[in-house]
Amino acid sequence: MTVVEAMGRLLPAEEPEAGALLADVLRAEGGTVRTGARATGVRHREDGFRLTPDAGEEITRQRLLRATGRRARLAGLGLETVGLDPEARAVDVDGRMRAADGVWGVGALTGRGLFTHVAMYQAEIAVRDILDAPGSKTDYCALPRVTFTRPGSRLRGA
Ligand SMILES: Cc1cc2nc3c(=O)[nH]c(=O)nc-3n(C[C@H](O)[C@H](O)[C@H](O)COP(=O)(O)OP(=O)(O)OC[C@H]3O[C@@H](n4cnc5c(N)ncnc54)[C@H](O)[C@@H]3O)c2cc1C
Repeated sequence: MTVVEAMGRLLPAEEPEAGALLADVLRAEGGTVRTGARATGVRHREDGFRLTPDAGEEITRQRLLRATGRRARLAGLGLETVGLDPEARAVDVDGRMRAADGVWGVGALTGRGLFTHVAMYQAEIAVRDILDAPGSKTDYCALPRVTFTRPGSRLRGA
C-alpha cells in the first residue's frame, strides 16, 4: 500500500506528531508513505492504475482509493444575482451568517469546519438573526474535531 499526500506530512491540519505517528504505523505495517507529492493524473491500463505525482516516480497499483477531500460547488446557484462570486471556494459570511442583503449561508458552503456540528451551530445563529432575536455572533475558538483512525490495528491482528 502506498499513501500519496500532497502536503509535507500526513494529517497536515493536525499537530505534526499525529501525522508522524500515523506514517510510522503505516510503514511498520509494510506500507509506503509519499508526502509532498501531489497527484496530477491517473490512467487505467492493463497492469492497473498508474498515478502520476508532481514529484518522484509514477506509482502503479491494482487498486486505487481516492480521498482528496471535497469543496463547495457554487456555480449554477445564481449567486451572482445577489452580488456573490459563484467561482469562489466558499460563500463569505459575516458573524451572523449573512452572505448578502437578505441572504444567509450556513454549513459546508461557508467553508468553515465542514462538520455537522458546525453547520448546526451556524444555523442557530442564522435563524436567530433572521428572527431578529438577541444572541452572540459566531466564535470558532473552541471547535471540537476528531481524526478517526485505528493505528496499529493490522499489527494487532484486529
Ligand atoms: C463522507 C463524509 C463523512 C462525514 N463525516 C462527518 C462526521 O463524522 N462528523 C461531522 O461532524 N461531519 C461529517 N461530515 C460533514 C457533514 O456531513 C457536513 O459538514 C454537513 O452535512 C454539512 O451540512 P450542510 O447542510 O451544509 O450540507 P449537506 O448536509 O451536504 O446538505 C446539503 C443539501 O443541499 C442539497 N442541495 C445541493 N445543491 C442544491 C441545490 N442547488 N438546490 C437545492 N438543494 C441542493 C443537497 O442535496 C443536500 O441535501 C462528513 C461528510 C462526508 C461527505
